[in-house]
Amino acid sequence: IKIGIPAETVPGERRLPVVPEVVRKYQDLGAQVLMQPGAGLPAHFRDDAFAGVAFAADAAALYAEADVLLCVQPPAPEYLAALKPGSVLLGMLQPWADAERVKLLQEKRITAFALELLPRITRSQSMDALSSQAAVAGYECALIAADHSPKFFPMLTYAAGTIRPAKVLVIGAGVAGLQAIATARRIGAMVEAYDVRPETREQVESLGARFVDTGVSAAGSGGYARELTDEEKAQQAERLAKAVAQCDALITTAAIPGKKAPRIVTADMIARMKPGAVVVDMAAESGGNVEGTVPGEKMWINDVLVIGPTHIASRMPVHASEMYARNLFNFISPFIQDGALALDWEDEVMAGCCLTHAGELRHAGVRQVLG
Ligand code: NAD
Repeated sequence: IKIGIPAETVPGERRLPVVPEVVRKYQDLGAQVLMQPGAGLPAHFRDDAFAGVAFAADAAALYAEADVLLCVQPPAPEYLAALKPGSVLLGMLQPWADAERVKLLQEKRITAFALELLPRITRSQSMDALSSQAAVAGYECALIAADHSPKFFPMLTYAAGTIRPAKVLVIGAGVAGLQAIATARRIGAMVEAYDVRPETREQVESLGARFVDTGVSAAGSGGYARELTDEEKAQQAERLAKAVAQCDALITTAAIPGKKAPRIVTADMIARMKPGAVVVDMAAESGGNVEGTVPGEKMWINDVLVIGPTHIASRMPVHASEMYARNLFNFISPFIQDGALALDWEDEVMAGCCLTHAGELRHAGVRQVLG
């Protein structure tokens, strides 16, 4: 088989779905790797770093020739239309975002695997791209907060006394939030954190942060959170407002799969923050946890800086690509033998990740959302 690696088409996306080490592993399985020239450049991988790879004349040739196309974000429609009928597409395909895209994949009879649909069981952890990329994003958000804060994060002792450490509040303690907590702690901040899933308390405390108790629990299915009722939201808001008012930096990472990010921090809460406080809303691109955040913008609201970073994982494309490339390899490699692809529909992880196959929209959850 030919594994195709295109240049990403979304502006600002700098990651790629292979790194040289992982290309070698595909070659060891007997697969050929075909790349679009320059596909690795945004992540600082030059074409000559990929030994034994064939380079397609252009994007159109690459899409038409690949048996398995790996991507980070969904390719633009004109490229999807150029895919070989019956070929496999694997990446973070944003399955809930665009019914037209799903229809196109059905029409072209593409076997599309969206890593967002990965069943989160123990065996699939090494394939979990949402987790690996969330870890990158959480780390970055803590650095963005530190970089924009007018205060030191760590305690600092100098000849004339001691500077108190900054107070950081992290809302949402999933994979990204926990990495933001760990990073802020490593830089020396005092960290508080909150999540609606009560089991996160222990994880937060094990990182040396304090858990903010609001008395609201929203453990949902599959390890994810459920949406809160209006009453629960009011209770959460009241208790959180105090913690928000006291912090120097607020990092929000709350998400509900397939839904708009929950709005947790109101304009009124921002108005009561300390002058010079920084807010980093990691959920800005998916609707925002903070009222008033604009994706891709930094805004002063009174004397509080509200940041809505976008393409966060692309801020460190080398390691984000390395982590992502390994996730993809661990997903697809069990089905590549002697250079041939043999999918196993009895495999619950593979089948669970399938968005479209043989002209059908296979995933029940996505079918429900797209109608
Ligand atoms: P996510 O990105 O969907 O959400 C981020 C966090 O936001 C979650 O912790 C969620 O509880 C929280 N949240 C949602 N609504 C909120 C609200 N109103 N207020 C405050 N917080 C809110 O989640 P994720 O980080 O991808 O994963 C969530 C959990 O799933 C992980 O922490 C882990 O326990 C589990 N998980 C399991 C596996 C596995 O077993 N293979 C892999 C990855 C994650």
